Amino acid sequence: MNHAIRADKFLLDADRTTWHDETLWFVREKRDRAVYAVPEFQELRELASQIKDHTLSRLDLYLQEFEAAALANGVHVHWAADAAEHNAIILEIVRQQGATRVVKSKSMLTEECHLNPYLIKHGIEVVDTDLGERIIQFRDEAPSHIVLPAIHLKKEDVGDTFHTHLGTEKGESDPQRLTEAARQHLRAKFLAGQVAISGVNFAVAETGAVVVCTNEGNADLGVNLAKVHIAAMGIEKLIPRLSDLGVFTRLLARSATGQPVTTYTSHFTKPAPGREMHIVIVDNGRTQQLGRPDFRASLKCIRCGACMNTCPVYRRSGGHSYDFTVPGPIGAILSPNIDMKKHSSLPFASTLCGSCTDVCPVKIDIHTQLYKWRQVLGEADEIPASKKWSMKFMGRLLASPKAFALSGQFARKALRLLPHGLTHANAFNAWAVARELPEPPKQSFREWYQQQPQQIQQPAQPKVTA
Ligand code: SF4
Repeated sequence: MNHAIRADKFLLDADRTTWHDETLWFVREKRDRAVYAVPEFQELRELASQIKDHTLSRLDLYLQEFEAAALANGVHVHWAADAAEHNAIILEIVRQQGATRVVKSKSMLTEECHLNPYLIKHGIEVVDTDLGERIIQFRDEAPSHIVLPAIHLKKEDVGDTFHTHLGTEKGESDPQRLTEAARQHLRAKFLAGQVAISGVNFAVAETGAVVVCTNEGNADLGVNLAKVHIAAMGIEKLIPRLSDLGVFTRLLARSATGQPVTTYTSHFTKPAPGREMHIVIVDNGRTQQLGRPDFRASLKCIRCGACMNTCPVYRRSGGHSYDFTVPGPIGAILSPNIDMKKHSSLPFASTLCGSCTDVCPVKIDIHTQLYKWRQVLGEADEIPASKKWSMKFMGRLLASPKAFALSGQFARKALRLLPHGLTHANAFNAWAVARELPEPPKQSFREWYQQQPQQIQQPAQPKVTA
């Protein structure tokens, strides 16, 4: 099933689609206000982009520096080549503790590796402690956004879910009362947690510390109550020095939610006495992407979600239509690297308007990479035959001025003669559902131009006097 077919399902509920679109646009506007309040924002973007470029160009060295510093801090460091190794390492650590209860704060990497079902299959209870993540965990759904995982749900949906799983009153949709119910429920889970798993926003090579940004403080509570902390990070999370961190924390929250900074920016450097801290460093296709010169810049992503909030296709098709852990424009670049065949439709889920590139805090050339993936997929024969042949046909047509002029004449006549039902919205013409076809002109610009008097076609050159 490709992106367009999955998006069709989302679009069946027109009210929800409009609501989703407007909600994310509201976040985009909040981001704009936060960004314009910082006069040096563009300099920060440039600096962040350069720091990430530099780090990626020496990733092997920084990874070694990070590992050495973390080991010196008394942290256990593990390396995982792929999702299977990542999951096996974490299960082993949990089993070594004799633990059966894990609390987990938000981590897109563990989503990518499908850690939850793996641990649950092996008899471990896993509780997602981020509110949005917990809601979708109850519903057995995947996150639809990397920062706002339950953004596809309205408060009434959350009320129904909590009624089923937490016993709140039927029909309850008051956000404060629902949040309080979640809070009471999660508090018990935190207290019972034996192992805490967190993601990593930034890993500092110089100090061997990991930095986790949350708005709910759930990572801190989980880590401080459990005996063991496991932090899972992709190899691209590195930054060289602690002094680089401020550049990214100033960009991250502003770009993500329009806040000046996330409520909690927690540094985890070493285990408290009597505790254990583990860091699992994961590749899972990242070195392959690093080896693709056209796409390596996608590894600069700091997962702020701004490209999703601004993307007209994401806003109106929903995160689940991407069927990949990271949806939206950046997901459409990362996903074909993992499985070109499965995700071949995603780089086409874009208007190439460039808004994603404009808002990206680390200046990833997102729309250029989407365009490039289309070419790579075409050359690899990973696009549907209908798209391939129609593109070939259009390529020929646009390359021939004569054929182009003739087709224009034909189209102008046909559009006037075609029955109304074929040029306006109906069951066979979804294109026109949200658009109006303009009245076709009687002649092309070229025909009009050739009818103009000579002096309009070739205006007299001004006389140059000495
Ligand atoms: S690609 Fe840029 S805008 Fe999109 S999530 Fe990553 S950092 Fe944010």
